[in-house]
Amino acid sequence: MSTLTNDLCSLSLVTARDKLRSKEIGVLEFVETYITAVQDARGLNAFITETPELAREQALRSEKKLMHGEGRLLEGIPLGIKDLFCTKGVRTTAGSRILENFIPQYESTVSQNLLDEGAVFLGKTNMDEFAMGSANITSYFGPVISPIRSTEHLEKDLVPGGSSGGSATAVAANIAVAATASDTGGSIRQPASFTGTVGIKPTYGLCSRYGMVAFASSLDQAGPIARNVRDAALMLSVMASYDPKDSTSLNVPRTNYLDALQPSAKGLKIGIPKECFENLSDDLTRVMRGSLDTLSHLGAETVDISLKMLKYALPTYYIIAPAEASSNLARYDGVRYGFRATTADNIQDMYAHTRRLGFGKEVRRRIFIGTYVLSVAGYESYYVMAQKVRQKITQEFEEIFKHVDVIIMPTTTGGAFGLEDGPKMSAVDMYLNDIFTVALNMARLPGISVPGGYTSDGLPLGVQFIGPRLSEQLLFNVSAAFEDAVQIGDATQIKETI
Ligand code: GLN
Repeated sequence: MSTLTNDLCSLSLVTARDKLRSKEIGVLEFVETYITAVQDARGLNAFITETPELAREQALRSEKKLMHGEGRLLEGIPLGIKDLFCTKGVRTTAGSRILENFIPQYESTVSQNLLDEGAVFLGKTNMDEFAMGSANITSYFGPVISPIRSTEHLEKDLVPGGSSGGSATAVAANIAVAATASDTGGSIRQPASFTGTVGIKPTYGLCSRYGMVAFASSLDQAGPIARNVRDAALMLSVMASYDPKDSTSLNVPRTNYLDALQPSAKGLKIGIPKECFENLSDDLTRVMRGSLDTLSHLGAETVDISLKMLKYALPTYYIIAPAEASSNLARYDGVRYGFRATTADNIQDMYAHTRRLGFGKEVRRRIFIGTYVLSVAGYESYYVMAQKVRQKITQEFEEIFKHVDVIIMPTTTGGAFGLEDGPKMSAVDMYLNDIFTVALNMARLPGISVPGGYTSDGLPLGVQFIGPRLSEQLLFNVSAAFEDAVQIGDATQIKETI
């Protein structure tokens, strides 16, 4: 890759937008550079479908707009779109064989919002199948390889986290300026933490779910992964909107979080849940302590709190999410659309073969669990109980936010693990990756993961800020101040081959 390519592709979204507007860089050249960068980085498997022709068409349109000084908020900015946002005329697979050849007739609201502001789509990013996973190793289209390397084991491939591993990798590897992602139990924040990027999971209902392939509808929420807080703020300003086509969409006015940004943590009360600081690794303890020091320097006040319900969030998430998934995924029956097995000679067998061959192991596991907890045998003792606990989790957060402005937690329990180690983990060990992320999905709260430091062998560690419902502006303000102040150096090795 030439130095010029590197220079162009390393620009942040906000800088690139300004340079495109001032015509310091040309949009056609910019987009072409990205198309080449995507192709050169195919070894990472970050994209399931590349859309260079679409990107070129969109770039031509942007060129006209920019020429007339009519650049919109994301004019000419090349993005990766997670492959669960339906894109009209462009294959949308959700990482599954069952949707291998599915070409939607319509555009998701989130991707339409991006198009309406002049964004350019480089392609559809790889993901765990139906967004189920924490390592991006369950995709039918193969695992994603993180562009991050440990300083100790440069030769070792690492996971980018999941389920939005393709989006996080595209952003971290500089092959997309920013990307869309979705978070049901951590899939924006955990890959952001593993790849040293910024990811925000907004308040449930802020971004429309219309046209997003459903996993667990009461938890799913779209959000961006970006290179820094300001870029994430701009992306979310465009992605979020009230949408009558989604009955759970929040009817709140649109905000430009970037224009309204006031980086500051001064005077804020930051809650430190003691449960999150028990049994942390040395690396994480050091990074969290450093983060708290940074926040104190910025004038924040830290307050000890207790999140007693946190330990129940993970087990109850793994009841509610599979329950909703088993219901949502019932639509894939080989009749209406998607893959159909041709090996059966009656309709019952056709359903069974289609779903056995069309879904991967993890998806089938979730369907089994979900069907069980919704059955007569499991409903009262699992599903109803989990819903009650969910209510308690929500109430505990509400109570805490009467006393603090923001809560700080680690995003993950450590740095990225090896690509080879993922498949060796038990399902429960894999689920434990989500211990710090699922609680806010259960409570429908917003949370942002921002790089906070590195492990001793150079792997990024994210710090998570959580706020009350619709506190996205506050979260951007705190994390921008934090990002500006935190001295994390650049210990991470970017893969040589890109
Ligand atoms: N890792 C979690 C799961 O597998 C969360 C996934 C997500 O947020 N989409 O359910």
